[in-house]
Amino acid sequence: MPDRQFPEIQVKSVLNRVEGMPFRWSINPYRGCSHACPFCFARRTHWFLDEDGVNEWDTKVFVKVNAPDVLRLELSRPTWKRETVALGTATDPYQAIEGRYRITRGILEALRDFRTPVSIITRGPMIVRDLDVLQDLARRAGVTVCISVATTDNRLARQIEPTVAPPVQRLRTVARLAAAGIRTGVMLAPILPGLTDQPKHIEAVIRAARYHGAHFIGHNVLHLGDVTKDVFNQFLRDQYPDLVRVYKTLYGKKYAPPDYRAAILRIVSEVKDRLGIREPRYVESSQRDEQLALFERQNITPPSSRRL
Ligand code: SF4
Repeated sequence: MPDRQFPEIQVKSVLNRVEGMPFRWSINPYRGCSHACPFCFARRTHWFLDEDGVNEWDTKVFVKVNAPDVLRLELSRPTWKRETVALGTATDPYQAIEGRYRITRGILEALRDFRTPVSIITRGPMIVRDLDVLQDLARRAGVTVCISVATTDNRLARQIEPTVAPPVQRLRTVARLAAAGIRTGVMLAPILPGLTDQPKHIEAVIRAARYHGAHFIGHNVLHLGDVTKDVFNQFLRDQYPDLVRVYKTLYGKKYAPPDYRAAILRIVSEVKDRLGIREPRYVESSQRDEQLALFERQNITPPSSRRL
């Protein structure tokens, strides 16, 4: 186990403006992630700030200790329109250190109190710790949780996501959240050419997600940007030298070729259609209102919580 540092930092802002995505705001409680996935595209966020995204992405994780307080100030501004916020786009908000600092929980409590909808992405089963806040948030503003599962193959998962909970534990998390009335889906990502892109492999994840009550399935094919390509190519040389040439051909640029991505989309869509999975990952605000009503009709009573 490598030595890990968790420098505590004070931030001036928490809400990040996002362009070109289905959401306009994001929040990341940490900078860095102790999970060390070699495919992690967020490694370059260390590099942006003159940190080492190759060797220290997982060993030097910055903790934004004042994030919940700063967020409350931002959400209380009259200009805040309560648009959906994506939580965990460049770090895992439920990596192990969250057990000690509870920054993510503090952020969710702030979003709840200011009736701001949230879309969370994580690989961490620790999210069930915050089920009480999530239920309250779901009733007051809207919540979507997306649990990332790249494979149902345990051996492969240990190679590509070395310290993440096994796939079955993540799928049980999906079941637990869905049963509690939280809109929950599975992000089949990243799809790795030659490793997880066979139709039977893709179908196994989607079937398992469906079986565990996922409302929707998202997917993403690996992309190899700055920093990540160095780490991932080293991973291939160490673990799958036969694939080095394949990736060199496919990844002359950051993204896999359009025809490859289109072929993956066809496979995913065909399986989803066959299994009757039609819900999109992102919902419009009008759909969200319907979901709030549904949550009420399900008669799920959230625990008492602080109100504005
Ligand atoms: S869990 Fe997510 S944020 Fe953390 S290293 Fe893996 S891909 Fe990156």
